[in-house]
Amino acid sequence: SAKKSGRNRFEFFNDRLAEGMHENLMLESALRVAVERNELVLHYQPLVSFTDITMVGVEALVRWQHPTLGLIPPYKFIPLAEETGLIGEIGLWVLREACQQMVQWDEAGNAVGCVSVNISVQQIETGLLPKQVKEVLQDTGLAAERLFLELTESTIMQDPEKAATAMTEFKQMGVKLAVDDFGTGYSSMAYLKRLPLDRLKIDRSFIKDIGQDANDEVICKAIIQLAKSLGLETVAEGVEEEAHAEFLKALGCDVAQGYLYSKPVPAQELAVRWKKT
Ligand code: C2E
Ligand code: MG
Ligand code: MG
Ligand code: MG
Repeated sequence: SAKKSGRNRFEFFNDRLAEGMHENLMLESALRVAVERNELVLHYQPLVSFTDITMVGVEALVRWQHPTLGLIPPYKFIPLAEETGLIGEIGLWVLREACQQMVQWDEAGNAVGCVSVNISVQQIETGLLPKQVKEVLQDTGLAAERLFLELTESTIMQDPEKAATAMTEFKQMGVKLAVDDFGTGYSSMAYLKRLPLDRLKIDRSFIKDIGQDANDEVICKAIIQLAKSLGLETVAEGVEEEAHAEFLKALGCDVAQGYLYSKPVPAQELAVRWKKT
């Protein structure tokens, strides 16, 4: 009967909901101990100068090395970390680990340039980050100029006043600032002009169809020109093909990041790959 199937549907929905909640709770408690148990790892992706194809820096990208589930990509646990407030602790761990790794590379004689670290909106909202960054730089001895913090447009626009205050503090320390995934959020030309930015990272969605999509090409050109006139460096994210690189280089884009050069790799592999001979 209709009544029966309705009830079944409800029970089915309930079971699925309970399952989903159970899964999330399990993941959440597992994520809670992941930091303590040292299950988070950073992979590093080279940033390459378009001028001479040398590595000018790396972006630190977090992964979760789960004991049974294997290597979990950030899109599967960063949103959960943000919802549960764990992102504060994770973000601080990422910052410290990335800066420590830079100093280790220095000591091993590998010139890695700068390191970029992704920042979540909660890290700006709590107001704790400037003090944390200062402490990590002091503890590790990494020069402030070698650290880039990456904020998305939506992170900045969530609370533009708070973001501006934090960014001014970073700037005073000598830390560099990048807008990540540029072009995907809602941009305000007013903040671009006002904030102490160093770099725009053009989102991969505008890069991947260069050579096929004239609109994307026009957008890339416009972003690069805008950045140039504001005195900002441009980084193209997700450069996968030689044709992308040629097009972007001709427009005067400064730096490339993408699988054409390297995927994100463990610290050990990066040191080997880019070792000066
Ligand atoms: P993102 O900051 O925009 O990082 C770039 C992403 O693009 C990375 O994905 C990188 O592996 C990927 N990528 C780079 N080149 C290519 C390419 O040529 N082709 C393709 N298909 N992809 C490419 P990943 O490592 O999965 O990270 C995804 C996002 O997770 C990051 O995007 C960032 O928003 C977030 N994330 C990663 N690590 C952290 C972290 O430590 N803290 C926070 N808050 N977010 C992080
Ligand atoms: Mg980034
Ligand atoms: Mg990005
Ligand atoms: Mg992204």
